[in-house]
Amino acid sequence: MAPVIYPYTNFTAVEQLCLERGEGIYVYDTDGNKYIEGMAGLWCTSLGYSNTEVVDAITEQLNTLPFTHTFGGKTHEPIKQLADKLRDMVPVEDAYFFFGNSGSDANDTHYKMLRYYFNAIGKPEKRKIITRERGYHGVTVAAGSLTSLPGNLAHFDAPVEALGVLRADAPHYFTGRQGNETEAQFVDRIINNLEEQIVAEDPDTIAAMIVEPITGASGVIVPPEGYYEKLQAVLRKHNILVWADEVITGFGRTGNDFGCTTMGIKPDLMSFAKQLSSAYFPISAAVIPGWMYEAMIEQTNQIGVFGQGYTYTGHPAACAAALKTLEIYERDNLFVHAANVGDYLQAQLREAFTDHPLVGEVRGKGLIAALELVSNKTTGASFDGGLAGATSQKFCQDNGLILRAVAGNALALCPPLIITRDEVDELMDKLKAAIDSAYAELN
Ligand code: PLP
Repeated sequence: MAPVIYPYTNFTAVEQLCLERGEGIYVYDTDGNKYIEGMAGLWCTSLGYSNTEVVDAITEQLNTLPFTHTFGGKTHEPIKQLADKLRDMVPVEDAYFFFGNSGSDANDTHYKMLRYYFNAIGKPEKRKIITRERGYHGVTVAAGSLTSLPGNLAHFDAPVEALGVLRADAPHYFTGRQGNETEAQFVDRIINNLEEQIVAEDPDTIAAMIVEPITGASGVIVPPEGYYEKLQAVLRKHNILVWADEVITGFGRTGNDFGCTTMGIKPDLMSFAKQLSSAYFPISAAVIPGWMYEAMIEQTNQIGVFGQGYTYTGHPAACAAALKTLEIYERDNLFVHAANVGDYLQAQLREAFTDHPLVGEVRGKGLIAALELVSNKTTGASFDGGLAGATSQKFCQDNGLILRAVAGNALALCPPLIITRDEVDELMDKLKAAIDSAYAELN
């Protein structure tokens, strides 16, 4: 084996799939086998695998000016154009954008900017961040501490307490309900828990709450009706900022421009990556409102610098990739396409799996979905060790469909936004066969 330390991998049990090329929604391995990339890679290749317009935009930029940094007075046209373009799109007032290279670093940047801002306005004690159980926000030190998956925390000694990270309930009715609780009662209970936690901690010590509008990596959780309305009312009441991590849900994924639109969230801060450039070049953005930026200006003057920046902040080729990607989204009406095909996919999934004995819940919005695989459909009991997830993922792959088991036994779907209805039908045929085979093997 090549001396590579692979991410999110069990080093002792690696069955590698070596991909070589891609076309549309399909990828091909080195043996020539063809797969539907039903996860858009890692929830990111919105334009599929052969968009020559984006490749040409990147190439042209690399041929013109392959690199310039943006520290201390340097800039370039693509970064300015990208920020202007994004400002017209986002639901954040007079937004400002700090560019990076990954969703994790966007979240770390936010973590730092929140501290910088509250220090600037003389409220240094307002520094804790609320995250949720089953939230996924990346793997860098601050973002990794905001992530709530066990594998990201204990074994790395994540400095959760030092960073002031508080954890609230996951808004997942299926796994979180108690007894005969209705959805509305579940929402009321977890919102009450949140408010009690805020009061106990002292709201003046809490800066923000980070939420994925629809949780992605830990199981595609769509919170129940009314949850975000009540959540935001509590946060506003206690002057806690709403920080939307749109790294997966941004740019059409949920059938609207942003997951915030789909879920009725009015964010103060937003984090972007992935579909910002359809993953053709790494780029992320930490988005803050104008009033926060204004307050930070004087601080930079007093200290002499805003001490945050990556060598590749606003890499010109990354900005060119993002600009072209956003242009294509708009020109080809891709968010509307995603909404339409997404509705179709959601309907097909419900029709095929609502009554399937292996499937406890079908959930999702737009072109993101998951099947919750259960050992007992009546009780919703799960298979140990993610057995059903792993088994189903394997049968999918054997059938030419790449999906991903997440959070144990949730099988996630997140195809490129360009997928057509016919391709959804093809995906569904493969998925149905795989789930039937998994059920037969597991029973
Ligand atoms: N935030 C969310 C919601 C994510 O889903 C991810 C990655 O999947 C991240 C942040 C981290 O992004 P990256 O892997 O680019 O660091």
